[in-house]
Amino acid sequence: MSLLGEYDPDNIFAKITRGDLPAARIFEDHDTLAFMDAFPQSRGHALVIHKRAHARNLLEIEPEPLQALILSVQRVTRAMVAALKPDGVVVTQFNGRPAGQTVFHLHFHVVPRWEGVPLGRHAGGGAADPAELAELARQIAAEIS
Ligand code: 5GP
Repeated sequence: MSLLGEYDPDNIFAKITRGDLPAARIFEDHDTLAFMDAFPQSRGHALVIHKRAHARNLLEIEPEPLQALILSVQRVTRAMVAALKPDGVVVTQFNGRPAGQTVFHLHFHVVPRWEGVPLGRHAGGGAADPAELAELARQIAAEIS
């Protein structure tokens, strides 16, 4: 699957939204959901999605849900910085398999960075300890305003 294709309502993030798959949830509102990446590129790597927009990528989402989504991205990024105090934060998003996308439900990555700490592999590193992810999610959630 690349830029063209049908939205799969049974993709991993749709299942997480429905509660059919577990995730370390950080924040949820009427439109959006933030949770920890299970294969993080850094300590605290989070993902933010729209819960109902059936968009596989940035090209497919309508302006209104995109607005809700990007505002949640900013909210989670601010909370992450307050909670984890990184030296920097990468906010990124991939469109199509050749661009690096592996889950075809639009999402933004929020990846904290620390000086001198190399970035882990994208979607290819090891699975994080669920208990550690839950604790990070709790710390970030505590700073959501
Ligand atoms: P993409 O490659 O599509 O930009 O990003 C997909 C992200 O989802 C990757 O960073 C990958 O580590 C993460 N991921 C893959 N499977 C799961 C899962 O089952 N749960 C969670 N929380 N993250 C996942």
